Amino acid sequence: MTNQGFRSNPVSIDEKKALDRLLALLAIKGPTGHEKAVAEHLTRELMSLGVPASAILVDDAPSRIPVFCEVGNLIVRLDGVLGGPRRLFCAHMDTVPLAAGADPVVREGRIYPKGATALGGDDRCGVAVLLTMISELKRGNLPHGPLTFLFSIREESGLLGAAAVRAEALGLPATGFNFDGGIPEDVTVGATGAMRMNFTVHGIAAHAGIHPERGVSAVAILADAVHRLEQAGWHGLIRAPEGSGTSNIGVVQGGDATNVVTDRIILKGEARSHDRRFLERIVTAYREAFHHAATDHRNEAGACGRFDMEVEDSYTAFALPQDAPCVQAAVRAVASLGLTPRLRISNGGLDANWLTSLGIPTVTLGCGQHEIHTTSEYVALDEYLVGCKLGLSLAVGTVP
Ligand SMILES: [Zn+2]
Repeated sequence: MTNQGFRSNPVSIDEKKALDRLLALLAIKGPTGHEKAVAEHLTRELMSLGVPASAILVDDAPSRIPVFCEVGNLIVRLDGVLGGPRRLFCAHMDTVPLAAGADPVVREGRIYPKGATALGGDDRCGVAVLLTMISELKRGNLPHGPLTFLFSIREESGLLGAAAVRAEALGLPATGFNFDGGIPEDVTVGATGAMRMNFTVHGIAAHAGIHPERGVSAVAILADAVHRLEQAGWHGLIRAPEGSGTSNIGVVQGGDATNVVTDRIILKGEARSHDRRFLERIVTAYREAFHHAATDHRNEAGACGRFDMEVEDSYTAFALPQDAPCVQAAVRAVASLGLTPRLRISNGGLDANWLTSLGIPTVTLGCGQHEIHTTSEYVALDEYLVGCKLGLSLAVGTVP
């Protein structure tokens, strides 16, 4: 990235304040489901910037989310003096649990966590971008059209906050811009879809020392099923002639004692693909592998194991057309900063999945977060500042 484009760009921001804002946000603990301290910090900041209390609301999303939520989505609506369709800007307030307690330090143009935690630049960078946009709009008294800012909850636990938000509460925006990425050149126009798979594997219990031949081991069925999936290329990274995707069994629970043939194991897994039909094909491969593994394991009386499988959608894949107004606006905004926009598809789910399916076509933009969900996470400060300018240029409509 070069700094050349900045000179020709009409949008300027107070970079020192933008950096301080990000550092303050990174220091707030807010693992997924526990975003209250972040929401309270934002509310204080917004009021001090002159945003009226009547423009700030916390929605009732927790009443539609089946797991504990400390607070709802924080929504800010600014009407502005210019007309035109309403634009939505969003970022998620929560971090992965690994980022809890992060102590951010600035070193050579980057922010790192001081200890062995993640940083939480995912997605405090996006939150700081939105707050900087509002600050600059207020500070410069910049004319703008109708804008909505969504600070969502529980993104990291399955996009639950965005899934539960109501378009009416957002003021029915026409387009959306989600700040939750790394390199500002990247305009993410689509994302993968995912399905959750929950299994219960049933074996037959027996004394493992006295009569193991009377039992059927659920552990052996699991091992056999995973071996079949691995052999056929359906486990982990999947590259088949008819499609691609990923799958994983991430949670395994079961067994009580070493002297009992294990009769029950509970498994939680997931499958992801951009292609809905291929996603279903992956799920079918899992069903077949467990079916064969269960029926192939029998005790001396000929009784075999069995399994139950529940499948549900986590989120739906989407891909915006290149001529969608939000894609066009994002591409022009990136180019106006002297950068070369690149359209891409994400392999992870995004709040944009739900916002787009809600009728708000949403692109996802970069704001400097890197190596997310790891203890090597860092924020590239120049990219974060570009993200702030990108957001501001989209808010004031200097980009036609
Ligand atoms: Zn994120």
